[in-house]
Amino acid sequence: SISQVLTNPVGGNEDEPEVQQTSEHSHPYGGPINLMKFDEHENVIIDEDSLERTFNHPLVKDRKIVAVSIIGAFRKGKSFLMDYALRYMYANYKSVAFPDNPLTSKTNWVGNLEEPLTGFTWRGGASRDTTGVVLWSDVFLDEQKDPKTKKIEKLAIILMDTQGLFDTKTSATDNSRIFALGTLISSVQIFNLNDVIQENQLEYLHMATDFAKFAMKQHKKYSKGSKNYKPFQTLIFLMRDWQNVVDFEYGNQGGAEYLAQVLNIDPKQPKTLQDVRKYIKESFDQRLCFLMPHPGFEVVNNNNYDGRFSALSEDFQTQLKDFLYSLLQPKNLKKKKILNNEVVGTEYLEYLKVYFEAFQSNEIPKIDTLHGITVRKQYDIVMTEAFIEYQNILGGITIDIQIGDQWKEKNVLEQEMNQIHQNAKQNAIKIFKDKKKLGSEADEKKYEDELRAKLETKFNEWKAFNFNKYQELKTVDEANKIKLSEM
Ligand code: GDP
Ligand code: MG
Repeated sequence: SISQVLTNPVGGNEDEPEVQQTSEHSHPYGGPINLMKFDEHENVIIDEDSLERTFNHPLVKDRKIVAVSIIGAFRKGKSFLMDYALRYMYANYKSVAFPDNPLTSKTNWVGNLEEPLTGFTWRGGASRDTTGVVLWSDVFLDEQKDPKTKKIEKLAIILMDTQGLFDTKTSATDNSRIFALGTLISSVQIFNLNDVIQENQLEYLHMATDFAKFAMKQHKKYSKGSKNYKPFQTLIFLMRDWQNVVDFEYGNQGGAEYLAQVLNIDPKQPKTLQDVRKYIKESFDQRLCFLMPHPGFEVVNNNNYDGRFSALSEDFQTQLKDFLYSLLQPKNLKKKKILNNEVVGTEYLEYLKVYFEAFQSNEIPKIDTLHGITVRKQYDIVMTEAFIEYQNILGGITIDIQIGDQWKEKNVLEQEMNQIHQNAKQNAIKIFKDKKKLGSEADEKKYEDELRAKLETKFNEWKAFNFNKYQELKTVDEANKIKLSEM
């Protein structure tokens, strides 16, 4: 059962995450966790425990994150697809819950053609109160060589299902909000759509592209860093039940041609629609489109259909394999970058928390606020790193307070401590400055000053502590000497 696997000693954690087990066939290695959801009053509920447990896990916290997310309306086969993605993952990758996975069936990942589908629950669940972000509780693990640095890199791969309404009753703003959240927290955003791309569906990307536009502008204005900064990584339009095979064939190639046509800017279009197109192109490193065939009538008509592969139409089988291979094979994994920096588990956790919080209020978070908290969080992470290093240096040094049996003068001691502080401070500031980050010159200055102030405070505490200790020891020593001399 799930609990057995998650309390596996490798997990190192006795608590069980709140896994929803609604499907009749439970999955042996994990379950969906509602990391964040909207209640009936549109309040946001965040599962902090699961968040911490997942990303602070010893096997995850220092790994670069790859976050694959699917987003779109209800009952359009998102969970169904993600369940097959899980099957692919368990055939090709080890995971936190299954670290000894022998991976014997890498190429034959579908396995038993008659096996019922399990994973993210994919039946029912068409109610409004399940909107939010659902994470697969198990995290996949991979080691691969970074093509640039040639170093072996450890990756943690997560799968997410971001449920928006995307129905006609929901305002474009609400849809655009959940879409922006999904985009902020993923490296690959799959936009699951039915039939064709509609104009209003492009508009759901508005807030995400507004964020991107703002971030790029800030960056251009101030930074000397890389010019081709794009805030987001991969966006995939996944078209389900594709029909127009005469003009566009199933798969990646047909998708690319179709998308080129959809994103083509026509001067006759209203300005807002032209803008959305322009910024979709500028916001993402990679924009893809994949055309999926209809899965066959067993899937849509049989209420008792259990998801087995054999019942899928042949076209669907072929394209499903192609899609998942191109999405999930090791060399195509996209690392999550925030402000142009790849993030590891613990950092990702920090960003998730601030983003979820930003979406917590009923008010729609403002773009500059969202960007502001992103920059703030980035600097927080760097400042903490520098500060901890400073603290470690101070904590690792022993200071002689006597020369022979002579007590050092207080001002000599103070000079020594000052010297230690200066060196440790220089080192901390260097860590801060060397770290690649995005922000304005004003940001850089502001947070450097903040770090300097923190270091000074720490220094004063340390100095006061040491002086106290010195004074104590000296007093005891002198009292002893007096006692001795009196004897
Ligand atoms: P979700 O709400 O988007 O996660 O949708 P589900 O994955 O729960 O699927 C809803 C229903 O659609 C299920 O009965 C699936 O069998 C069916 N389904 C899955 N994939 C497809 C597809 O590509 N096309 C169609 N028409 N139905 C599908
Ligand atoms: Mg679903």
